[in-house]
Amino acid sequence: MVLGKQGAGKGTQCVRLSHHYVVPHVSTGDMLRAAVKSGSTLGLKVKAIMDRGELLGDDIIMEMVAERLAEPDARARGFILDGCPRTTTQAEMLAAMLEPLQLDLVIDIEVPTSQVLKRLASRRVCVDCNTNYSVSAPPRVNWTCDVCGGEVIQREDDTEEAIRRRLELYERETAPLIDWYRSRGLLAQVNGSGAPDAVLRRIVRAIEQRRSQGAPHR
Ligand code: AMP
Repeated sequence: MVLGKQGAGKGTQCVRLSHHYVVPHVSTGDMLRAAVKSGSTLGLKVKAIMDRGELLGDDIIMEMVAERLAEPDARARGFILDGCPRTTTQAEMLAAMLEPLQLDLVIDIEVPTSQVLKRLASRRVCVDCNTNYSVSAPPRVNWTCDVCGGEVIQREDDTEEAIRRRLELYERETAPLIDWYRSRGLLAQVNGSGAPDAVLRRIVRAIEQRRSQGAPHR
């Protein structure tokens, strides 16, 4: 599972990790954006909450995650969980859901807030496959996604107000998970500054280190 402030590069690193280890990338944000795109009644409700930078209810999120993790690919190969849990309640529900197993490792990508604010302001994303770009590293052709040809836009929840609210909620609801996972011996903190390739190397090193040590006992 990968933790970190909004804009710390979680999404980008999770996609890379899922390619590196050939395991599914399970992103609650991507699943919610797909619900919004479908235009369903649920999607419309979800969109209003996301656009304000608020968190969705724990039950609805964990129900969605449980369904996804029960699919054959996640059961067979494991998964990279991105954007969940975001609250202690979600972490408790996830732990109960995974019993008798547990997460192998929780990676906290550390990036100072001043850097995160800059990254979020320049973040652009593909509406179809969610690949992340930035104003300084755009797709090759005219804001068309290099991966799938979709349109690359600014996320609707990347407004100044929504960003402020998401960071506030991160500090209040999500940051306590750092100690929660540390106390369970599951946390690795990785410096998220610098080029994405360098950050990925640090994350892979942390994972390999954990693998060589074996899983912590409960
Ligand atoms: P993300 O793409 O991870 O930044 O998520 C985008 C938005 O989806 C968040 O700002 C929340 O509104 C919602 N969201 C995603 N994951 C969760 C979660 N685990 N719990 C509550 N809300 C979530």
